[in-house]
Amino acid sequence: MGKKNKQFVEKITAMEDDFAQWYTDIVKQADLVDYGPVRGTMIIKPDGFAIWERIRDELDRQIKATGHANVSFPLFIPESLLQKEKDHVEGFAPEVAWVTHGGENELNERLVVRPTSEALFCEYYSKNIHSYRDLPMLYNQWSNVVRWEKTTRPFLRSLEFLWQEGHTAHATYEEAAGETEKMLNVYTDVVENYLAIPVIRGRKTEKEKFAGADYTLTIESMMHDGKALQSGTSHHFGSGFAEAFDITYLDEKGESQYVHQTSWGATTRLIGALIMVHGDNRGLVLPPRIAPIQAIIVPIAQHKEGVLDKAYALRDQLKDFVRVGMDVSDKSPGWKFNECEMKGIPVRIEMGPKDIEKNQVVLVRRDTGEKEFVALTDLESRLPVLLEEIQQNLFNQALAHREEKTSIATTLDEFKQTLEENPGFIKAMWCGDVACEEKIKEETQATSRCIPFEQEKIADTCVCCGKEAKEMVYWAKAY
Ligand SMILES: [Zn+2]
Repeated sequence: MGKKNKQFVEKITAMEDDFAQWYTDIVKQADLVDYGPVRGTMIIKPDGFAIWERIRDELDRQIKATGHANVSFPLFIPESLLQKEKDHVEGFAPEVAWVTHGGENELNERLVVRPTSEALFCEYYSKNIHSYRDLPMLYNQWSNVVRWEKTTRPFLRSLEFLWQEGHTAHATYEEAAGETEKMLNVYTDVVENYLAIPVIRGRKTEKEKFAGADYTLTIESMMHDGKALQSGTSHHFGSGFAEAFDITYLDEKGESQYVHQTSWGATTRLIGALIMVHGDNRGLVLPPRIAPIQAIIVPIAQHKEGVLDKAYALRDQLKDFVRVGMDVSDKSPGWKFNECEMKGIPVRIEMGPKDIEKNQVVLVRRDTGEKEFVALTDLESRLPVLLEEIQQNLFNQALAHREEKTSIATTLDEFKQTLEENPGFIKAMWCGDVACEEKIKEETQATSRCIPFEQEKIADTCVCCGKEAKEMVYWAKAY
């Protein structure tokens, strides 16, 4: 048994040795994905998809609770439609996939496989919005999109991924601004309170905003290796798309006005964030609120009389208040322990003949490895509390890690040195000039992640050029 267990664990590269390989090992060993036949595509397997469903369900609940309706728009966009908004098409052109043939016949007009669906929604809105009474129009769709990325990694960057994209149209600029912020708040809630990942909230610079947007709001999180990950974005389009697609309505005075629009999206990247924020060298660590299985029963000496019966009875006892699993396969307990750890199940419940005699079980936490003995009669009260403790602990750990990985720089030399010594977020002042942003990226590979809502004054002058600074910016290397 010892040898087999060892092999199971040895397949994971230590994150300190090679973080990229550690990540790849986890997605394979935890059975989350497999590679598709086309380079850069992924097959999301049952254990990976179950995590996505948990994220999706909570996000969907909140999207509906904020007044949006789900719809399904087509996969294809005619080239002429995508061309209508200039910045938008320029932003996406390098990574779109084209359909040129239908069966044997060359198409009269090429089609784009949607990289995002603004053009389709705008076309629809231009035909279906007539009066102020039609507004606001609050749509969301859950779909797949295709972006022909050069370098790919499962969940983080793939040719095809799953997401939700919200598209809304409003009467006024202010109302659309409220919507943009409201949806950023939804993303913040799901990522912080369900995925246990603390985020920095802010606005993207002009250089980093969505192609065609007035401005982009973002939540940014810090991975274990000191790289940042954009975890959700919400865009205000002003009336730019409305002017390009001629989306107008008659206001209460009967005058024609352009609508103001937003779009917002969150993707299967969030699974990558979960892995890179909470995972360790034994595998995945899932926050209880998002874990498909929150606690798994592993019977010990299950061949002994009465053990399996008790285990099944325990599962029945628990199944109404936690998502409980059970492993009654003929693998050794040690193997099963490793497997539960690899899959990141928050709590393992061990139950053997001795425990049965004492009417107790052993609870083992995935996050700390701590064990506790709990009487069967106390389990219904203790287990939910323990799950919340784990949820909170994971958030606190991630927050402490982010704080450790956040530094301040006042000169470019200091910026470079700090990024070298303690890779992570760098807080630094910026003059607002894109030339400085580009220079920083060129010399350090760090990009501006966001201009945080919570501003601090670190210095009077820009970290790059020394001229008067306008704002404090979070910078980092990013996925
Ligand atoms: Zn500057």
